[in-house]
Order: sequence, then C-alpha cells, then structure tokens
Amino acid sequence: MVVEIDYEKCHLCGTYVEPICVDRCPCSAIRITDKKIEVTEFLCEDCNECGYACPDKAIKIKVVTF
Ligand code: SF4
Ligand code: SF4
Repeated sequence: MVVEIDYEKCHLCGTYVEPICVDRCPCSAIRITDKKIEVTEFLCEDCNECGYACPDKAIKIKVVTF
C-alpha cells in the first residue's frame, strides 16, 4: 500500500510545532521537506495512524493491486 498526501487539504496542523502525523508515526516515516509532508515508503508499515490522526483528512492509504 502507499500513503497518499492531499497537499490541497494539508495545512501542516496549523500552529503545531510538530505536525500530528509526524508525531504519531511509529516508524518515523514522515518528515517535513520544503514545508511539505513527505513519507519514506520503505519505512512505512501502512498502519494508518497518520490517517486517523490527521485533522484535515489529508492522508489516505492507497491499496495497490497487481
Ligand atoms: S496531520 Fe494532516 S494536516 Fe497535519 S501535517 Fe499531517 S497531513 Fe498535514
Ligand atoms: S501509515 Fe503508519 S507507518 Fe506509514 S506513514 Fe502513516 S503512521 Fe507512519
């Protein structure tokens, strides 16, 4: 599966010092690069903690079928 960020919806959690998704990710797979959320796919375990926690509903786990 792949984590998809909707950059139109994401407002970097407003005034939070550390965005909620960065804080919640148990795999340290999320970071901010150039004021954008970025997910390192090989670290991500598709737990969807970030998706549940995001106040802007900007994160989706996309199921990839082969
Ligand atoms: S939790 Fe949602 S709104 Fe906050 S930085 Fe992450 S993707 Fe953006
Ligand atoms: S799905 Fe889980 S492991 Fe992947 S980026 Fe979100 S919180 Fe981190």
